[in-house]
Amino acid sequence: MFEVSFDGERVPLTEVQENPARFARRLERAKIVPGFAQCHCRTDSPRKLVIRRYGALFHLAGWPDDGVYHAEGCEFRKTPGTATGDGSDSTAAIVIDTDGLNVRLDASQIQREVASGPRARSQTTSNGTSRRAGPLLAFMQTLWVSAGLNSWAGTTDHRSWGAVNAMLLGGLGENARINGASAQDVLHVMRRYEESERDAINAEFERFLATITTDGKVSRRALVLGEIGAVGETKYGASITLRQRKLRYYASTALIEQTTKKYGHAWRAIAESTARVIGLLLVERTTKGHLVIIDLAAMLCSAAFIPCDSIHEVAMANRLVGLRRVFEKPIRMAEGDQMLPDFVLLDTQPATHIEVYGMNGLESYEERKAEKRSMRLARGIPTVEWNVDRQTVRQARLPSPVQRT
Ligand SMILES: [Zn+2]
Repeated sequence: MFEVSFDGERVPLTEVQENPARFARRLERAKIVPGFAQCHCRTDSPRKLVIRRYGALFHLAGWPDDGVYHAEGCEFRKTPGTATGDGSDSTAAIVIDTDGLNVRLDASQIQREVASGPRARSQTTSNGTSRRAGPLLAFMQTLWVSAGLNSWAGTTDHRSWGAVNAMLLGGLGENARINGASAQDVLHVMRRYEESERDAINAEFERFLATITTDGKVSRRALVLGEIGAVGETKYGASITLRQRKLRYYASTALIEQTTKKYGHAWRAIAESTARVIGLLLVERTTKGHLVIIDLAAMLCSAAFIPCDSIHEVAMANRLVGLRRVFEKPIRMAEGDQMLPDFVLLDTQPATHIEVYGMNGLESYEERKAEKRSMRLARGIPTVEWNVDRQTVRQARLPSPVQRT
């Protein structure tokens, strides 16, 4: 793992990601003078890193347009064309521009008039067209892609929540906006629990929770992102806790039923030890002071937080990470993305597509499978097809990686 330096000290990047509170004061100093940190992935020329504040803590991000100069396998390396969305569609619900993410969410008006008052002002773009509203899942997927969390560089065989937190905030951008408000005010990405810095982390979270208020007239909501730990039953529905902190968020039976249908693959995997399920919760406070989930999205991920579409994909992603393969999980976000492969192995030449086949028999599914097969054949793309009904994940034969130089 590569090292970074700031405030006269050189430390592994992972250490900073795992313990943001411990490095907060030094990062704050370096943000003022000289105004940047450095990445030492290349011995010949260290690269500048942006130091950003999010909430009460600081994190590191790549310097604008400098991504290609970082070494292969460095987290800050960016090759052109790997990010989604070029910002050209001004009516899109989620736009990535120079200020970072600019998101317009639908049902989730961040502020709600409890009485029958007017709805939140609809946002319009410069040319007057109203921006499409995006669902919570698409927002979460965009966060993952802009953070590079759907890619695996093969330099380690694990990724912790501390790294996920740091990468998410790095990808979000300092001036990211959600429904016109600063993302910092309405989105909290849970910190990794760090015993030695418990007070600082708790204080930051308490401050955020204190902004979720209702006075009977206006309800100020907020988004919380974390790993779902457990779902319990209550008299009126369910309670959900996040792994990073034992706090109960309540949800109605109707919302849980809807979630079970909409996010079935993720929901079923909540107790699975091999998988992780990330929740993005839109939270409101009741007049009694409880935190209630108004809407939520659940995203299934592998043990190393690679997004997956099924528990079989989780098994494949876990295997690829364990083997330290270099790969990417393409995220299907638009209609035409149906043809994207399940995974792309990037350490073979040319790149190899990996397809995970299950639940055979559905006509539309079989049709798409055949279509993808002929498309790859025509383009000469090598493919690994894992049929989950016939083989275990270990039996799926992967091509050997080419030696890295
Ligand atoms: Zn680097």
